[in-house]
Amino acid sequence: MKKTKIICTLGPASSSKEMIEKMFQAGMNGARINTAYGNLAQYQSVIENVREIADIPIIIDVKGPEIRIRASQQKVFSKGDILEVGFDGEEVCFNHDIYDEMKVDDEVYIDNGKIRTRVIELKDRKLRLLALNSGALEDGKGVNIPNKHLSVPTFPEKDLEIVKFAKKHDVEYVALSFTRDAEDVRNLSQINGFEGGIIAKIENAEGVRNVEEILEASSGLMIARGDLGVEIEPEKVPLVQKSLIKLCNQKGKLVVTATEMLESMIHQPNPTRAEVSDVANAILDGSDAVMLSGETAVGEYSVDAVEMMARIANETEQAVKSNVEDTAFINISDTVSKAIQEICQSMPVDKVIPLTRSGYTARMIARFKIAQQIIAVTPEIKVKKKLELIFGVYPVLIDYRNEKDKIAAVAKRLNEMKLVTDEETVLFTSAMRTVMKHASNSIEIHKIKELREFLSS
Ligand code: PGA
Ligand code: MN
Repeated sequence: MKKTKIICTLGPASSSKEMIEKMFQAGMNGARINTAYGNLAQYQSVIENVREIADIPIIIDVKGPEIRIRASQQKVFSKGDILEVGFDGEEVCFNHDIYDEMKVDDEVYIDNGKIRTRVIELKDRKLRLLALNSGALEDGKGVNIPNKHLSVPTFPEKDLEIVKFAKKHDVEYVALSFTRDAEDVRNLSQINGFEGGIIAKIENAEGVRNVEEILEASSGLMIARGDLGVEIEPEKVPLVQKSLIKLCNQKGKLVVTATEMLESMIHQPNPTRAEVSDVANAILDGSDAVMLSGETAVGEYSVDAVEMMARIANETEQAVKSNVEDTAFINISDTVSKAIQEICQSMPVDKVIPLTRSGYTARMIARFKIAQQIIAVTPEIKVKKKLELIFGVYPVLIDYRNEKDKIAAVAKRLNEMKLVTDEETVLFTSAMRTVMKHASNSIEIHKIKELREFLSS
């Protein structure tokens, strides 16, 4: 079974039940809704379709303090032209009022840096931008103003509504675009009361700078390379990617590498060799999940893109090694997960089976990228779905809470489900005689057949 998880952005090309089913069969492990496009009614139908087909997490991507162009119609221009952009419903305007924070000579990039401009004048509450290349201004295109902390609210009106919607539909994750600091993350959980996982999207220099506190406050990170490659120099992205992944692996938190992974498959049936290498390298770096954006949302080869990604994953993931460094004691689960890594290297163990209430222990083991399958058993459906995005983890829902002998009950159930066989040697870990958090304090190793004989004797 594939260990690397694949997140697919669902859009016009892929929102039908039929397409979702095909992409799920091809290896999709999570469904992302990009709220830069579409409306609540459409999101709701996507959520319903996904939930009908698979127990996979839904990730609602809110745009946060992201600046976009609003244009009543396309505006074509040439290099050297002056573009006037307002803030208040003009023909071409920005979605946030940043007039007072802009200066002459600030650089303004549009559409992932495809359009480069410079402010030459601020007048009548409009920016006059010198176009440094030719192009077309289009509604909805993203705007990057590198190296400026703008006082755009974390949650514009539209996002508040979307987060309310995410709460109502109890989605597993919200991805927060342009996370600048831990405060942005806390705003989402505290002000808006969203209780699901929060994936902080790192897409500018400020997010990179504050990544430690951001990670502390969130469930994990997404390396949002599309905007990141404009906000910081593109040549800096590969090493930032590696260091962000390493940081998440160290803490046992989710890390997703995203954007342009198989970009050419939007219009072609085959990826470029460089794209294949990019996916492989993101996996080798230690990503839990790799993501498809336009490839699945609007592409002509959505299913092929998922299949291709799964093939690259299957081929590459056997070579993934742990990049976790030994640190001082954190908690019991941390120490036990290290012991499990050692056991898995020193004796033949077929499967590792954490009994996990919050998912924490499963993630702590998974970060070591052990060769064995990790069958994470949890009584919580929410936890099961969230673990679906973690490298090497196969989450299973079993309610063992009222069982006297939890391990025996789980072994029996997994055996019935054919997830473990008589001949296999498995390692169980669980929190025994404690209700403490992050306290998986026991390790039991059994050959299933012997365990069954023992229990029935
Ligand atoms: P987006 O984020 O697709 O929401 O812009 C991803 C990225 O910037 O890479
Ligand atoms: Mn982005």
